[in-house]
Amino acid sequence: MKKATVPVLKDLVLLGGGHSHIAVLKRFGMRPIPGVRLTLICRDTHAPYSGMLPGLIAGHYGFDDAHIDLGPLARFAGAQFFHDEAIGLDAANRRVLCRDRPPVAYDLLSINIGATPNTAQVPGAAEHAVAVKPIDRFVAHWHDLAARVLGRKDAVRIGVVGAGAGGVELLLSVRHRLGRMLAQAGRTGADPEYHLITDTDEILPTHNRRMRRKFTRILSERGVQVHTGHRVARVDAGRLRCQDGSDIALDEILWVTMAGAAPWLAETGLALDDAGFIRVADTLRSVSHPDVFAAGDVASVVNHPREKAGVFAVRQGPPLARNLRRVLLGKEPKPFTPQRKYLSLIGTGEKYAVASRANWSVEGRWVWFWKEWIDRRFMRKFNELPEMEEEEATGIARGLADEEVIKEISNIAMRCGGCGAKVGANVLERALGRLSPVKRDDVLIGLHEPDDAAVVEVPDGKVMVHTVDFFRSFVDDAYVFGQVAANHALGDIFAMGAEPQSALAIATVPYGVEAKVEEELSQMMAGALKVLDGANTALVGGHTSEGAELALGFSINGLADRDRIMRKGGMTPGDKLILTKALGTGTLFAADMRLKAKGRWIEGALRSMLQSNEDGARCLFASGASACTDVTGFGLLGHLVEMIRASGVDVALELSSLPILDGALETVQSGIFSSLQPENVRLRRAIRDIEGASAHPLYPLIFDPQTAGGLLASVPAANARACVGELKRLGYEHATIIGEVAAETDALEPVTLIA
Ligand SMILES: Cc1cc2nc3c(=O)[nH]c(=O)nc-3n(C[C@H](O)[C@H](O)[C@H](O)COP(=O)(O)OP(=O)(O)OC[C@H]3O[C@@H](n4cnc5c(N)ncnc54)[C@H](O)[C@@H]3O)c2cc1C
Repeated sequence: MKKATVPVLKDLVLLGGGHSHIAVLKRFGMRPIPGVRLTLICRDTHAPYSGMLPGLIAGHYGFDDAHIDLGPLARFAGAQFFHDEAIGLDAANRRVLCRDRPPVAYDLLSINIGATPNTAQVPGAAEHAVAVKPIDRFVAHWHDLAARVLGRKDAVRIGVVGAGAGGVELLLSVRHRLGRMLAQAGRTGADPEYHLITDTDEILPTHNRRMRRKFTRILSERGVQVHTGHRVARVDAGRLRCQDGSDIALDEILWVTMAGAAPWLAETGLALDDAGFIRVADTLRSVSHPDVFAAGDVASVVNHPREKAGVFAVRQGPPLARNLRRVLLGKEPKPFTPQRKYLSLIGTGEKYAVASRANWSVEGRWVWFWKEWIDRRFMRKFNELPEMEEEEATGIARGLADEEVIKEISNIAMRCGGCGAKVGANVLERALGRLSPVKRDDVLIGLHEPDDAAVVEVPDGKVMVHTVDFFRSFVDDAYVFGQVAANHALGDIFAMGAEPQSALAIATVPYGVEAKVEEELSQMMAGALKVLDGANTALVGGHTSEGAELALGFSINGLADRDRIMRKGGMTPGDKLILTKALGTGTLFAADMRLKAKGRWIEGALRSMLQSNEDGARCLFASGASACTDVTGFGLLGHLVEMIRASGVDVALELSSLPILDGALETVQSGIFSSLQPENVRLRRAIRDIEGASAHPLYPLIFDPQTAGGLLASVPAANARACVGELKRLGYEHATIIGEVAAETDALEPVTLIA
């Protein structure tokens, strides 16, 4: 990975983590263009590899074998990874419209979002059939389907609509896996009935005659009833109604028909083919919009129409990467002609496969192992990423920018410090102008009527609670970072039992050309406002400067009743210790930086960081909490010791009851820790280790620094269980009792660790 010190000049946005974009990410990771920022927007963190999915269903592979983890791959590429779904495109203003975040600006856009099954065109299909696309959703449906089949006493009738390669292979994989599951459950006589339904005259219509013959035989040997020439006109519960008047009764219906295009493409103004796919030239560039490229199933190459298959999406990856690079550097893209003939390898459920190319075809167990070798080699390229030296990229690539922009960049290099480092007034005004912070009656002068300083009112009988937090970004997503930073800062206010009232922001944005600075600032502040507004906290002002890295902090004012304040001191012997969120954010993000964290682990950690402590604090107060704090940079032990010192008590901490985020145990066991961990470990002198508890696998996590961590509170023993139950009901799924408060002893180690 190369660390860019060159300001961002152009944004290349990759929409969808399909088979072509994984190659683009890998190639840009190996050879970045200084000054180009890559952003991947994808609905899913793990991209399924079509070649191995049937093997996953058949039970030959685990989830990680058949999926490419986009988190580490994006990090390897130095790309921002926005985990979101595109729902539209504002092509005129070059913005991708997303479901859960502000629009994302691009200079060059590449779309690789695949296709969807055509359930919309057949009445009832969306309601009564399980669509195989998007495939990741299908994996979840498949587990439900298997449970239903195992749960029934009688034989189930399963039908697959669509007899292309996907449909045939899926049916045989489902059959193989269910057969094994039923046998394991001692239900050998209850084999389901299988049906394959297609409107074509033959199965596998795009494959050669030999392949078709082989599969006709294989399906017949396995007792699959094939219904060719049956166009499904309607789907009712448990029944396919065909156009010729016939009915097929089924208990489970899987839909693997011809692929359709995402409906929102029709609203984009992009030139589309009759089926709604993006028309592209031989260069993979949209025929209507030169700043848009498309590849894979979503693209329709005007001069070289091909069937929708993963093999073509994979092959388009390298030419797509090359052409995106050329266009970014001001060159013309080069045409690419996809092959006509390709090797097709289709499994039969068990470890046996049939291969075909042109007009030959072979089959056997060895074909399956050959296919497995090809597939695993492909996956290794994206899941086993080389560790790369961090290198500073400095020069601006030729062709990336014109003279005027180069001049702007020279000015950036000579930017002043002090007040001169402030972000320009115009940029600030435009970025903040897009935001409208929540309005409160007790904010007399705030952002809506800016002045030299904000003025807020403290109502009679209330006291004001102040806190400040500031840190640099640890995620490549300014919008998500803004949310985490705001949530982290609010944590102190909630831990005190106060209600937040107003916030001042202090932000640093990387040096750059005006448009990019404005974009990054508004993304970050939109994230922050989402959280502040949600907590009814008025953003009343702030200060923004340019610097080396994105960073954000808040000074927050809260209001509290004097007698409702929860403090660190006050823990009473006999109280139970409750922790509301799981530990592990420090080690997980340290692993993420080294490409050692799975995308879903980071996703889980971010979900936890974005969960507000507001409800948790109210619940703890209502349960009679005698003391409370939020767990952040000093880690669980550090914050616990602060409470112990302030309360004059001892504590017994049960390691095995600590809630841990997914993946955190794996990363600490690989020896990956946050850079703050050694500092926190010094506090081990406060620990009395009973029977070698420090050898417990969770021991390192008591030192792990947390960002936007949970609340740690002592609650009277009589209320503790009910309090945990209520916390769980409020959505703190990991809330649990982790120890007990004891009377103070003279010992120098007030924390007794129990394994
Ligand atoms: C059961 C089955 C088996 C198959 N087996 C084979 C095979 O063996 N060989 C073969 O060549 N083909 C096979 N195919 C076909 C193959 O799956 C597709 O042709 C291939 O996946 C297309 O790749 P793609 O890169 O275009 O898109 P996809 O692989 O579908 O990837 C699309 C990506 O975009 C993301 N995405 C989608 N919409 C959005 C959005 N709105 N916003 C953000 N992100 C979005 C998705 O999360 C996904 O990561 C099979 C299909 C099925 C159903």
